Amino acid sequence: MMNMLKENASPIKWAPKVKQDKLRRLYENDARGMRDDELLNDVAFGLYSRCVSILEVTDAVKGRVKCHGCAGVIPHAREDHLRCPACGWEAAWKDYQHSYQEKQLFGGAALPFFQGYVARFHRTNTHREKMLAIDDLIHQFHWYHKANQALPEAVRPAAANLIEGRGMREVLQFLDALTYGEDSTVVRRMIPDR
Ligand SMILES: [Zn+2]
Repeated sequence: MMNMLKENASPIKWAPKVKQDKLRRLYENDARGMRDDELLNDVAFGLYSRCVSILEVTDAVKGRVKCHGCAGVIPHAREDHLRCPACGWEAAWKDYQHSYQEKQLFGGAALPFFQGYVARFHRTNTHREKMLAIDDLIHQFHWYHKANQALPEAVRPAAANLIEGRGMREVLQFLDALTYGEDSTVVRRMIPDR
């Protein structure tokens, strides 16, 4: 299998979820009036990269695959094999699928939030603008349908796709435990009951 792909193959990489510790420290510092721009930019860009990966995977699932060699769009991707006409990058469709499965990289109902942050990211300059953009993104919630449950609808945080944590409940607990204070750029928000 591997020798078929030869030197044109490059590993398919997706941006990881952002570590809880980074966000926790960002909010702690912000609450004390400490503006740590290095940490802020790290978190802002980490979320941006993650959102870009989510948009890319969501597009791919819908048949628009982005080339991992030259970043062009591979037209008319066939189900079994991907090959970029521009740069020759290729991958088996099942390997491509395997690269994003079980990683919460499908946008689903939260897609508009990720699109919104990607667009907004390019317009943020000040500490305040960046903090507000991050805070808005990680506090987006949407309804979702639970399969085979008596109560079919539940609230799901977009942050479950963005922040590390074992499942939705842990991500909600994490959001609930973020630090706020008099000097915070952002205000505490309601976290839905779970
Ligand atoms: Zn290409």
